[in-house]
Amino acid sequence: MSIRWPEKIIFCEVGPRDGLQNEKTMLTTEMKVELIEKSVEAGVKIVEVGSFMNPKAVPQMAGTDEVCKKMKRVPGVEYRALVANLKGVERAKNSGISKVKLVLSASVSHSLANLKRTPDELIESWAECLAYAADNDMEVSGAISTAFGCPFEGRISFEQVASIAERLRALNITEISLSDTTGMANPAQVYDLCGYMTRALPDVRWFLHFHNTRGMALANIVTGLQAGIIRYDASLAGLGGCPYAPGASGNVASEDVIHMLHEMGIETGVDLEKMIEAARKLQDWIGHAADSAVLRAGRVSDLVSLKNAKKQ
Ligand code: ZN
Repeated sequence: MSIRWPEKIIFCEVGPRDGLQNEKTMLTTEMKVELIEKSVEAGVKIVEVGSFMNPKAVPQMAGTDEVCKKMKRVPGVEYRALVANLKGVERAKNSGISKVKLVLSASVSHSLANLKRTPDELIESWAECLAYAADNDMEVSGAISTAFGCPFEGRISFEQVASIAERLRALNITEISLSDTTGMANPAQVYDLCGYMTRALPDVRWFLHFHNTRGMALANIVTGLQAGIIRYDASLAGLGGCPYAPGASGNVASEDVIHMLHEMGIETGVDLEKMIEAARKLQDWIGHAADSAVLRAGRVSDLVSLKNAKKQ
């Protein structure tokens, strides 16, 4: 029996936010704008353009307001930003962003380390964010980081992830991202957690967000597809490797994900060649080799056309 794959997926480019926030090299506003515009030119319909966090905590994202003001907007494209509190939602609104992603962590230790509050405290504080967003015609999605494991607490139980998601759903958040923040997910776990979550909350639009820290991201996406999830985040050039941990890699590379899906006959709506061009440029800007198999080895189709050319 053959596997039934989805015909197409919904792709979100998170390089301008998740990728860049973990890079030592700071890109200029113009470079960030170009990165966003190039992704959209390639056909990407959802771009995470940056975050509105405390600039002292995340200096790479200090200029997101300026990026939002300068970037060209294409109708039909969703430009979303990551926020952690009301101040972030207000900054998003003032920058003309109408979709924000509120983030919390599934584990208490990671939440305290990164966001200085427990998941419970964060969820409580979201009520005012949601009220403000509703008053200002803004959409809100939620992201649960460390959903597949926490560097301090280890595995997170499915029940714990589901109980957080249920509370977000009770706040009327219908789009939730399950994030493997530190690359701890494995394919079997992804399949089981996705099944568990889609059964628990069938009306939620789920996003999966994988980091390729231990080389499992593409395999995790494949099992995510098998579990029926069709929304995926990725970052051009696999950006986001921690500069202080040699060998650590960041988000799974957009071009690797798109290449794999196209080879599988799954539509992404994205022009791979244009994404490869953008990824190459980005690799030059950040000044180190990207964690991208396609940038290293080229596409399968390049090889096939080369062979065919030789035969003639
Ligand atoms: Zn991430």
